Amino acid sequence: MTRLEARTTPLGEIAARLEVVRAEIAAAARACKRDPAAITLVAVSKTHPALAVEAALRAGQRFFGENRVQEAAAKFSSLRAASPDLRLHLIGPLQTNKAREAVRLFDVIESLDRPRLADALALAIAREGRQPDLLVEVNLGCEPQKSGVPRGQADAFISACQARFGPALTGLMGIPPAAADPAPHFAWLAACARRHGLGVLSMGMSADFPAAIAAGATHIRLGTAIFGARPASLPDYSR
Ligand SMILES: *Cc1c(COP(=O)(O)O)cnc(C)c1O
Repeated sequence: MTRLEARTTPLGEIAARLEVVRAEIAAAARACKRDPAAITLVAVSKTHPALAVEAALRAGQRFFGENRVQEAAAKFSSLRAASPDLRLHLIGPLQTNKAREAVRLFDVIESLDRPRLADALALAIAREGRQPDLLVEVNLGCEPQKSGVPRGQADAFISACQARFGPALTGLMGIPPAAADPAPHFAWLAACARRHGLGVLSMGMSADFPAAIAAGATHIRLGTAIFGARPASLPDYSR
């Protein structure tokens, strides 16, 4: 299990932290007889500067997660030009009026969680002529302060999104409630993805990724384990 540090990782240590995390992912995969190569590490760089992303890129990291459209646009435009093979995931809530910019900017949008956003994304995709992969986010604990389609409405919403977006709807994303044992929540999301024939399962963060890997996660989203603590003054949508 990763030791969570109460400080931001110095730039010179990011490569070493990535090595540690990769070894932990491989160990968690081996423990449940999965191929570590089937698990994609998404490095969550929200609130951290472009220099931190560059350090991770130099260490071979290619998948990054951001939770705000504006911050990602400011940080990643030049990074993308320098590293055209990097892949950017939107993991935070998306407002309908930012759908078009999100479609332009992100390769994967993990936070599709309501019919009005599906409408806005469909329009944005048509207008931009660009099709990011889409994940439906499920509110696993039905917590009112969190985004995500409530569990009870998930099946109907996923089916509607599959009908609308076809194979671009690739999977599901979810965050278990902070205080709960995450394992049953991960198991529920995995079963839901299977029911719908969806291959991508984005679940697991710095504190709980081994349990997510055991439950079948294909993408884990780690911020703190790689980049250290985030500045406390900025909003944190992770919990
Ligand atoms: C911030 C965030 C993460 C990363 O959280 P850590 O605990 O720092 O690993 C993962 N997923 C989402 C949706 C987030 O907002």
